[in-house]
Formats: sequence, structure tokens, C-alpha cells
Amino acid sequence: MSKRDYYEVLGVKRDASAAEIKKAYRRLAMKHHPDRNPGDTKSEELFKEASEAYEVLADEEKRATYDRYGHDGLKGMGGGGAGGAGFGDVFGDIFSDIFGGGGGGRGRGGARRGSDLRYNLSITLEEAAFGKEVTIKIPRWDNCSPCGGSGAKPGTQPQTCPTCHGVGQVRMQQGFFSVQQTCPQCRGRGQIITEYCPDCGGEGRQRSEKSLKVTIPAGVDTGDRIRLSGEGEAGELGGPNGDLYVQIDVKTHSFFSREDSDLICQVPIDFATAALGGELEVPTLVGKAKLQIPAETQSHKVFRLRGKGVKSVRGGATGDLLCQVVVETPVKLSKKQKELLEAFRDSLQGGGDKHNPKAKSWLDKAKDFLETHIN
Ligand SMILES: [Zn+2]
Ligand SMILES: [Zn+2]
Repeated sequence: MSKRDYYEVLGVKRDASAAEIKKAYRRLAMKHHPDRNPGDTKSEELFKEASEAYEVLADEEKRATYDRYGHDGLKGMGGGGAGGAGFGDVFGDIFSDIFGGGGGGRGRGGARRGSDLRYNLSITLEEAAFGKEVTIKIPRWDNCSPCGGSGAKPGTQPQTCPTCHGVGQVRMQQGFFSVQQTCPQCRGRGQIITEYCPDCGGEGRQRSEKSLKVTIPAGVDTGDRIRLSGEGEAGELGGPNGDLYVQIDVKTHSFFSREDSDLICQVPIDFATAALGGELEVPTLVGKAKLQIPAETQSHKVFRLRGKGVKSVRGGATGDLLCQVVVETPVKLSKKQKELLEAFRDSLQGGGDKHNPKAKSWLDKAKDFLETHIN
């Protein structure tokens, strides 16, 4: 088979600039690189052919010789000549494109860390406050148990790769330079599988569902996440496992809302108790607590029950329970009750302004406002 013309190989015109030649070669090298086409001998041939053409056309002296005498003219020039110096950078570029761009996440010998997983866990406020051990089921990739992760059919062993002799890397000679690359036959594993494991098809991993016990620490809140190291997806080719992140979401409570380690609740009280004072029972996360209402308590006043909140997951003191009392206006009054209230109102008005200082002060301000601003 006669050699193809180098310009034809790279698909450039005879008067192509150095930049055009480099560009054409990069494109072909990317396309036909053995690492991208493992086991494809046709691609390998094209890659070698393009490399050889580039080796000549990128070198001014060799290109001139080739232009004048063709393939025969180069025979005496051999490798390792003076023209070699400039090639390193070009190849540096190209290989960083191929390996840097395409092989992200790969470590030595093709090992790859397993993916991290996220699991959304919805829990009640009580569970968040006191902690809990929950069992969750997570679907993930696991090492295939019949083959122990090797990918080889049980009873058979993976064989040492004949191309790289188990190293996972090969040196490729291209004229007078050589590059180290991932072995195209075993793709860096150093081993080849002759008979695939029927359970995982040679992958070495399987989809599985794993039950995991997760200890939810007391005091977690929505947005917290618990990291379970190594419980993510299995790594590939000996790479480490990823991590599992359990993302906490605390359900809305019928009674309490939460602000950091404090709990908040609203407590309706009747207006007689608000005026005279009294004692109420309020719920907490651990049972009932007594709340003293002093006389003359105004609506929306907040009472703090120390230490009846939530323990902080980050340590420190337990929060408080904040009870906001809301005075409830009585409804569905009987005739008798209305009469009592009317008498009560008369009695309040008989006392001048002193029973309703806020209302008095508000009326004064309103009057003032109307006199100065409205004519
Ligand atoms: Zn190999
Ligand atoms: Zn298997």
C-alpha cells in the first residue's frame, strides 16, 4: 500500500499555514486517539498516519524537503533530528485537551471516586428536637457480590493486560517523541476480563438498595445535613466510595413554630384572666408546663419559659418556649352577660381615663392630629 500524501492526510491545502496544519492535526488526533477508540485498529492507523504527517509538515525544513522530493526525500532524515524541539508544546496542548478535558475525576490507573448521594429525610419537630435513629433505604451502586467487584465471571480471574503488562499505561512512540497514555486495551485497569460476570456484565457494580441506620442528632433543623462518609456510590476501579448526605426537613408542627432553638406558640386567654391574672397550662415538647399570667396582661405579650425549647445541635444551652398570649374577645354572649358588660363599661367610664390609658393616649393623639393637619 503506497503512502498517502501528507496534505491529504491532514485535509489541508498545500499552502496551508502552520496554524492551519496544527489545527487540522489537533482535530484528527482528538478524533482518532486510541484512548477514545479502544480496540479500534482503523482509528489507531489514522491516528498514526496523522501524527506522522504532522511531524513532517510542522517542521519547516522537513516540509520543504517533502514538498520538493515527496516521501522518498525524507528517508535519510530519520528521527531525533534538530526539528524535534518545537513539538513538545504542541503535543502538550493536544494531550491536555484529550486527557484533561475528557477524563475529569480519574486518578491513577483509572480509579474513580463514587458519586455523593443526597437523601431527603422529612422528620417531625419532636424527632428533630430529641434525635432519633431512623432506617433509610437508599438505591445506589454497590460492589457486585457474585464477582466481588472484579467484573469477571465467578470462578474466573481477570488476566493481566498483555498490552501494558498490568501497568495501565503505555508509551506510544510517534517518530522521535513518545507519550505515556492510558492503555487502550484495558483502559488503565491493568487487567482484562476474559469472561464477564453475568450479574453485573463486567461492570463490577450493581444497582442495589441498602438499608442504613442514620442517627439523627438532637436539635437538627431544616437545612441541616448529616454526612455519612463512604456511604455514597461505590467507587470504580478501586476508587473510594462517595459520601451520603442526609438532608433534614422538619415538618410543620400543629402547635409550635421554631426559631433556632426557641419554640414559639400562641396562647388564647379570656379577657377576665388577662385583667385579673391567673394560671394556665401550656403544652411543651415534654409535657405540660404552668404559665403564670400576671394581672393586667395585655394581648400579644410574650412569656418566656426557660429551657423548654429545643437543644441546640451545635451545643450550648437549650432554647426557651415563648408563649404569646392573645386576649380573646368573648363571643355568643347571653342577654344577661351583655347587661353585665354594659354595667361594667359604665363603671370603667366612671373612673375617667385611668382604666384604659392606651385608649386615652391614642384618642388624644388622634385629636391632636386632626386639629393640626385637617381643617
Ligand atoms: Zn493494559
Ligand atoms: Zn459481577
